[in-house]
Amino acid sequence: MTAAPPRFEQVRHRMREIGVDVMLLSHGADLPWLTGYRAMPLERLTLLVLPAEGEPELLVPALEAARVPDPHGAFSVRPWMDTEDPIELAATSISRTDQAGGRSGLSVAISDRAWAVSLLGLQHRLATATWSPVSVVTGPLRARKDAHELAALRAAAAAADRVAAQLQAGDLALLGRSEADVSADIARRLVAEGHQRVNFAIVGSGPNGASPHHEPGPRTIAAGDVVVCDFGGTLAPAHDGADHTGVGYCSDITRTVVVGRPDPQILDYYAVLHAAQQAGFEAARAGVAAGDVDTACRRVIAEAGLGQWFIHRTGHGIGIDEHEDPYIVAGNTDVLLQGHVFSIEPGIYLPGCFGMRLEDIVVVGPDSPERLNTADRRLVELDA
Ligand code: ZN
Ligand code: ZN
Ligand code: ZN
Repeated sequence: MTAAPPRFEQVRHRMREIGVDVMLLSHGADLPWLTGYRAMPLERLTLLVLPAEGEPELLVPALEAARVPDPHGAFSVRPWMDTEDPIELAATSISRTDQAGGRSGLSVAISDRAWAVSLLGLQHRLATATWSPVSVVTGPLRARKDAHELAALRAAAAAADRVAAQLQAGDLALLGRSEADVSADIARRLVAEGHQRVNFAIVGSGPNGASPHHEPGPRTIAAGDVVVCDFGGTLAPAHDGADHTGVGYCSDITRTVVVGRPDPQILDYYAVLHAAQQAGFEAARAGVAAGDVDTACRRVIAEAGLGQWFIHRTGHGIGIDEHEDPYIVAGNTDVLLQGHVFSIEPGIYLPGCFGMRLEDIVVVGPDSPERLNTADRRLVELDA
């Protein structure tokens, strides 16, 4: 047994701090963040049983065991066959960690993204345990990015910026094409710029832009349209020798463009949006509550009389997941710290007319915030 990797130590320290006896990692980003291994989102159970004290064990479908990177002694691997009951194996593994011998009831934290059927099976067998989502342990740890993660997020943002620049240069044509066609074009370019996976490529033209998560469809983009393009993916990891090199980090950017000359109302609204995003950016400092960034951003839109048309939170953390802690939402009292990375993405959406959104990924620095996205933030007018 070699010394446990630093993230295992961090996690155990926090488990003891908040009174979690055992952590169960299944689907989702926590397992790859900790071990470099991502479970396939299939029905078969993958579960890392990690006690605050004692040896961790990874239960993994036998046919997937070969994909698990060498744990270097950080945990043991128990492949299970299709003829075995993985829930029974997991319950046994968890019970073994119970130093009170099942008398007091274990405090168990399980992946937020674990299947309900796994949790229900475990709850049935471990009747005295109490349960919480594992994000209470990992959320604050994953939110603070180390130097390798910042480099990965910076590279992902730069790759997305290159696609945004192609869009704004008119290189990626809009006029006369369907939203679906443009979306597929953006997706191809994200891959060409180094993404291993495209997570979304929203193209909302004209009235469709008023639906923030519009599914790109057959609508043909015409002169005069305001077009919201929000896209991102997971960049292929750089093999830089860090302990989590097998894991890719995400990009996420929104730019709004207009085909031809916009009417004055559009320009007025965009000026408000631009100012709101800047206000949010300037508020994103260490020591400030996450909710205060939302307030700073929202105030600008509200003061322009458009508050009712900004219908979502200001932003979300980003890392291995597109959306993770910290959430930039009213009422979130979590304090921002150096190394927190999140989007600032206000929008203005007029149902039946148009929408606009401006999104950058921002990192909280030692003195001031820094944008990872540097693509032009003005409302770019494309040739009609
Ligand atoms: Zn979104
Ligand atoms: Zn986005
Ligand atoms: Zn976003």
